[in-house]
Amino acid sequence: MIDSALLGLPDFEPGHVWLVGAGPGDPGLLSVLALHALGGADVVVYDALVDPRILRQARPGAVLDFAGKRGGRPSPSQPDISARLVDLARAGKRVLRLKGGDPCVFGRGGEEALALAAAGVRFRIVPGITAGIGGLAYAGIPLTHRDTNSAVTLLTGHGSDGGVPDGLDWPAIARGAPVLVLYMASRHLPSIAKRLMAAGRSRAEPVAIISKATTAEQRVVVSSLGEIAVAAAAVEAPSIVVIGEVVRFRETLDWVGARGPRGEDPASI
Ligand code: SAH
Repeated sequence: MIDSALLGLPDFEPGHVWLVGAGPGDPGLLSVLALHALGGADVVVYDALVDPRILRQARPGAVLDFAGKRGGRPSPSQPDISARLVDLARAGKRVLRLKGGDPCVFGRGGEEALALAAAGVRFRIVPGITAGIGGLAYAGIPLTHRDTNSAVTLLTGHGSDGGVPDGLDWPAIARGAPVLVLYMASRHLPSIAKRLMAAGRSRAEPVAIISKATTAEQRVVVSSLGEIAVAAAAVEAPSIVVIGEVVRFRETLDWVGARGPRGEDPASI
């Protein structure tokens, strides 16, 4: 039971929208504020990557409104979702917009917040643990380590037109940070790896692909930039990719895998 008064949690007021991150998968990674929001919301507008057990934390009677692909029909467009949030708020609902990971890390939370601001709807942003941080932690890969990197680049491997994001300056990215974390990259990983190697990154540099990170089905494949095409083909979505020397720490820090026969199952702790 959350003591909202003790923790100073804000009231969820009617007519407000909270843009909330649900974390990467493991329900235990939900924030207290996110749980509090679930207990107060009238409507929860949620995306495909949100675990059903998290939705079961919603107040009894709350409307659960799926905003992803349904029964082969295409997902609602972003303007449609934003308009729906505005309409629900104007109808006096407490609207919880629940997204996987962090709402504002490759999650269009910024676009939705802009639409709410333009419509004069009051909103709050509740950050979540993004897959590129939580997923690495569950793979035993520190995002930074003083021996390897003092910078990280987070990027998407999927341009808005569906191709490799050509707007990115790949040579600059290759030189910019020793550790690269790629979202939505599985499809274009072989061509991204080629661009990075052409820009000077070593073929031998380690790469980890973390599939279904922090869930009971988490799988991690470790390979190298030069061999990545083979590894990428074997991995299920969603997956996060990390390139850089930090990947080697997993040999020692794979705490999920170290937990015995069911060790690969974070939910069984
Ligand atoms: N807002 C989300 C990202 C949404 S984009 C966040 O902050 O995490 C969707 C991409 O996120 C996926 O293609 C994948 O690259 C990554 N992702 C989300 N959940 C994941 C998970 N449990 N395991 C691995 N990758 C995940």
